Formats: sequence, structure tokens, C-alpha cells
Amino acid sequence: MDTNKEAETNDQFIVKYRQQYYDLSRFLHKHPGGINTLKGLNSGDMTARFLKAPPHSDAAMYLMREYKIDPDDSRKTKSGHNEAELQNGDEELRHRARETEDKNNNQVDESMEHLVDWSKAMLPQIANITECYDEWVHKPVDRPLRLFGPWYLEMCTKTPWWLVPLFWIPVIIQCAREDLASSWQDRSQLASFVGYFLFGILLWSFLEYSLHRWVFHVKLNSNSGSWICTFHFMIHGLHHKVPFDPMRLVFPPLPGALLATIIYTPLSFVLLSPRVVLSGALTGYLCYDMIHYYLHYGNPTTRAFVHLKRYHQHHHFSHQTLGYGISSPLWDVVFKTRIHLRKLRYQLRWS
Ligand SMILES: [Zn+2]
Ligand SMILES: [Zn+2]
Ligand SMILES: [Zn+2]
Repeated sequence: MDTNKEAETNDQFIVKYRQQYYDLSRFLHKHPGGINTLKGLNSGDMTARFLKAPPHSDAAMYLMREYKIDPDDSRKTKSGHNEAELQNGDEELRHRARETEDKNNNQVDESMEHLVDWSKAMLPQIANITECYDEWVHKPVDRPLRLFGPWYLEMCTKTPWWLVPLFWIPVIIQCAREDLASSWQDRSQLASFVGYFLFGILLWSFLEYSLHRWVFHVKLNSNSGSWICTFHFMIHGLHHKVPFDPMRLVFPPLPGALLATIIYTPLSFVLLSPRVVLSGALTGYLCYDMIHYYLHYGNPTTRAFVHLKRYHQHHHFSHQTLGYGISSPLWDVVFKTRIHLRKLRYQLRWS
């Protein structure tokens, strides 16, 4: 049966791993390693498959806890023959599990989530955990995040993906319109318009890398102050903490406009045709944010996008200090922070 259908027909997707049970039903489509690789695991013991699969990162192991369930609940839903299957070969699996555990050093770190109260507003709590904030923020979870207490503030922290093109496309048109109209008649002027526009796109791709690497992933340690940790959580930390929150993925337009103004103002004095460059850079930004959303939620089938998706997932879950390029790995190559992905012998699907 298709995994997809399996998930639809059963509202639970229970697996056994080592001596624990997990309900993966809400994780199937999110699994960075694809949904098709989980095929046939429902109601079974996945330990052997898991140990044969490419190694999972510590962040992945941490995330897995989110789906852990009470074994008594899982038995109720399981058919007898599966339970028997689950018991078979347990001894051998346990032995292999222990071996892998030691080798990968996985499963040994305790959950850090007791440090905060997930039922309360998170932002004010960041100040209390500055000492271990950097470690905590890079351990992903899959649960609802509330940033502020008051609903009217909380509302402002959520951005549906379509708001980004709705806001920025008119701005881009407005920036480019006059120059495009005046250069339309003259071939040489049109060529320079295209040149400046493309330069803007390239400028964005450098900004995408620089912001992501040196601002969003600014080095924090146990002495970092509460303001910097809180600010970090707001701008990028939360995306690493709750990577499956679709309303906290794209950059909200108003802070985006503020950031664009801060960057554009000094550049406008030194650039030729600054408004055309700006429209190119904003186009680059728009493509980046849409690609970023797509990489998280889409089911790419073309080689380039499958590669980008896997590349970005490795940034999230295994190499958080590498792979800063999202719309392209260009600057990762230049600055030697590229992630080398394993060649896969099979195609990954995410839906
Ligand atoms: Zn996996
Ligand atoms: Zn990041
Ligand atoms: Zn991301």
C-alpha cells in the first residue's frame, strides 16, 4: 500500500523503535528522509530498518522524542501478529541498538524542554535560559509555539506564505517601473537595465548568505546576554527550534521592509541605478523566501529542487554551521561552507 494512503486510512502510524513506541502520523510528510522510505513500517518494529538506514543526526534523534507515545496506547491499536513480529528478534536488535548507541553517541542527551514552559509565551522565557540557549535552540521540536502572551501581539508573529508576494510584488514593480519605461525604447539602455537588475539578484544571493551566516547564525555562547538571545530567537532561532511551523517560516513583510530600508539607504548613494538594483534584489529575496517555503513543505521532483531540499534539511538537522545558501549553494562554495550530500540510489518523495 502507498504510505500516503496508509497514513490516511489509519489516523495513527505506530512504530516500535528499540523499546519505545512512536506515533509518526503527523511526521510522515515532514520526514527529511522522505515519506517513501517509511513505507510499510506502520505497526511494525522499525529498529532494524533504522539501523540500516543512513545515520540520523543527534537533532533528528531529539526530534523523534516528540512522537513518543505510551506503549499501552499503542498495543490497543495493534493487531496480534504485528505484536508477535515486534517481539521476534528483540534480543539481537537490542544488542545492535546498544552498539549503535555507543558509536553515534545518540540517545544519550536528555531532553532540554523542561527548561521552558511550552504552554506559556516563549519570548519572555528566553532570558532565563541564556546559559544553554545556543544548545537548546538547535534541538528541534514539533509542537505549537507561542511567542507572546497577548493575542494581538501573537497574531503579528504569524505570516502566511502568500502575504510575502502580495506585499513585495507591487513594491518590485514600483521600483522598476520608471526606469523600465524609459529604457524600453532604447536597446542599449534596456541592456543596462537588465544588467543592473541581474546585479541586484546576485547582490541578494550574497545578502542571503551573509545574513543567514553572520546575523541569523551569529555565534552565541553561555555568556550571551538575554537581549541578543531573544533577538536571535525572533529572527532565526525559532525557525530552527520549530522548523515545521508554516506560519513562522517566511520573513514578515514589515520587519522585512525595515531591514531592506536599512540596507538600501547607504547603498543608494554608491550604486548606479539603485532602484533597478533594488528591484532585482527584492525579486531575488522574493524567490528565496518562496523557495525556502517550498523546500520545507513541497514535494520536489526535479533534480535541482530535490538537491536544494536535501541540502537545506542538512542545514537544519545535521550541519547547522554549514549550508547557509538556501536558493543556491553558490556562496557556500565560495566561502567553503558547502555540504556534500550523499548520492542516493533511490528517489525521495515527501508526499
Ligand atoms: Zn529518517
Ligand atoms: Zn539557519
Ligand atoms: Zn529552513
